Amino acid sequence: MPRSSAPVEGRGRCVRTSHTKKHERIERMSGISPTENARVALLTGAGSPRGIGRATADQLVRDGWNVAILDIDGEAAQRAADELQSQAPNDNKVVGVRVDVSDPTSVDDAVAEVEHALPPITALANLAGISSPTSFLEISSKEWDRVLAVNLTGAFFVSQRVVRGMIDRRYGRIVNISSISAQRGGGTYSKVAYSASKAGLLGFTRALAREVGEFGVTVNAVAPGPIDTDIMGGTLTASRKAELSEGTIMGRIGTPFDVAALVCFLFGESAGYITAATYDVNGGLQIS
Ligand code: NAP
Repeated sequence: MPRSSAPVEGRGRCVRTSHTKKHERIERMSGISPTENARVALLTGAGSPRGIGRATADQLVRDGWNVAILDIDGEAAQRAADELQSQAPNDNKVVGVRVDVSDPTSVDDAVAEVEHALPPITALANLAGISSPTSFLEISSKEWDRVLAVNLTGAFFVSQRVVRGMIDRRYGRIVNISSISAQRGGGTYSKVAYSASKAGLLGFTRALAREVGEFGVTVNAVAPGPIDTDIMGGTLTASRKAELSEGTIMGRIGTPFDVAALVCFLFGESAGYITAATYDVNGGLQIS
């Protein structure tokens, strides 16, 4: 089997530092070509203006990445892409594409559109998700199936479509957005179906990491606590934020940028020895 030590096109680094030149020298020595065009990220569920995906797209574009923003709301994805394209510092490109991650044909079409518009994809974040505040005795099989289809099967469809190219090019980064609900069985807003879907993502992450590591592809999970977005039944009021921050060590709920920073780090070339990991981003709520 070919190993991941083979030269790769991308370096996927997210943050530029004053040590850039030194790093580039090290990258040359290690056979990794610092091709700007090789920084290409695909983010699902990134069309929502106040979401974690959008915050991730903001940071990636600022750092010179090419970014594909995919969302079930195609117009929102296109609007986000237009806004970010006008702020792009270099000649990095931003595209917005509609996708329903629970539909394999839609996923295939959307990824093909991205592949046509941008250089090969080096990083994928599965962020598309829906909440489900329905309790166990009330939830219908239809709602259960929909939550699992978007939150878990969606990550399967998109990852399988994208990872083949990563394997061919011997380089890739995949980040799956799970939730503290997977670890604590809810406790924030959503209930059983959501927790089950997000717990499924943790097993998915580890099993996929095992299969693709030898090809230079890392797969990690991020498990946020309550974050100030609109997914928990709309924009959070001050009193709901205070309620949700109870039990955190930091005494506040998270911002989308708190999560975006970690996703960007895991996308970076320097994160190449981190795989099959789950990261808590919850202000310490995991020990409450
Ligand atoms: P968000 O702004 O609602 O982002 C989720 C995005 O996914 C929305 O734009 C949503 O569109 C889109 N989407 C829904 N179904 C889709 C589908 N079938 N195909 C493609 N896109 C679809 O909320 P967020 O908080 O940033 O959530 C991002 C991820 O973080 C989610 O996976 C969520 O479960 C996870 N997370 C969030 C929190 C939190 O407290 N915010 C905590 C832990 C984990 P619509 O708005 O039209 O549905």
